[in-house]
Amino acid sequence: MGFATDVIHAGQPPEPATGAVTVPIYQTSTYVQEGLGRHKGYEYARTHNPTRAALEANVAALEGGVAGFAFASGMAAIHAVMTACLKAGDHVVVSDNTYGGTYRLFERVLTDFGLTFDYADASDVAQVEAALRPATRMVFLETPTNPVMRLCDIAAIAQLARPKGIRVVVDNTFMSPYFQRPLALGASIVVHSTTKYLNGHSDSVGGVAIAAEPEVAERLAFIQNAAGAILSPMDAWLTLRGIKTLVVRMQAHDANGRVVAQFLRERPRVKRVYYPGLEEHPQHALAKRQMSGFGGMLAFDLGALEAARRALESLKIFALAESLGGVESLACHPATMTHAGVPPAERQRLGITDGLVRLSVGIEDADDLLADLDRALAQA
Ligand SMILES: *Cc1c(COP(=O)(O)O)cnc(C)c1O
Repeated sequence: MGFATDVIHAGQPPEPATGAVTVPIYQTSTYVQEGLGRHKGYEYARTHNPTRAALEANVAALEGGVAGFAFASGMAAIHAVMTACLKAGDHVVVSDNTYGGTYRLFERVLTDFGLTFDYADASDVAQVEAALRPATRMVFLETPTNPVMRLCDIAAIAQLARPKGIRVVVDNTFMSPYFQRPLALGASIVVHSTTKYLNGHSDSVGGVAIAAEPEVAERLAFIQNAAGAILSPMDAWLTLRGIKTLVVRMQAHDANGRVVAQFLRERPRVKRVYYPGLEEHPQHALAKRQMSGFGGMLAFDLGALEAARRALESLKIFALAESLGGVESLACHPATMTHAGVPPAERQRLGITDGLVRLSVGIEDADDLLADLDRALAQA
């Protein structure tokens, strides 16, 4: 089936008892068994829940994997992937400038369990190669990165890693499977914070992991049940409902993202715009090859903290908030909000200056968004 059909139907045949077209919220903790050892495949809801299973089948289809697994948050999904695939002594190469929560999980939790991590500028494949060690078992990538929208070449890195038995994991939260399919490019696992574009309505926190290989799927199923950080039936249902409109939402985010990026690059107060859809983006060619759109995430630099503060505090439609990927437009100040935990020198190196503003462009009328930005820039 085509992608626009799959978002609506994959994993969701009409419910057999009543014919309900929408997957019910199976709000139950356990299931009656017909006799000893005789049941319908459902014993206890940590292990199996039909609402969650529908979401898992759906995201597996969208990403082209053999199975999907839904967790209570994006971080819980990433944690499950790490514990499913790695053991003490293993080494991981991570794209630098990764999501702050991921960095914190790796550095402040998983290092205590004998995993080691090195961070490489993955926009340069040679730097990933140079960071590999005999003990390397995984390359963990985010592309594009948050907030300066740097890309890495998933296919080139997978080609490098696979022959060495190293798995490539891609956090695909920013693009969603509509614009980027990492498993088709050679990755073994995709993770998402469904909190963002997949759910898309800023009303649920969740995460998914999708495996390309049956043995990884088996391990993830085991860890999901053993560690138990499952997504609730209600959140699984909200996410399924959100995904039904993924195609039309992503098209609208992309259209507005392009218009906003073009608008900002013409403004004299804006020093620089970071958006992979702009021709001057250093990886525009890779963006066109690896992704089928550019999405609604972008950042721009106003040169100084005070200018960023005045602009952000003048916005009326863009809400000053962390998170991203919902239908409503959000703006944030990475240096004091999402990336406050990154040491200042490292922030400078990554381009996360005090004047940098990040936008998650929503799907409102573009004219209203431009007018809002115009007004805010006049105050900057
Ligand atoms: C938000 C986010 C996460 C973490 O997801 P939660 O649902 O907040 O736990 C991981 N990766 C990226 C890229 C994110 O934006």
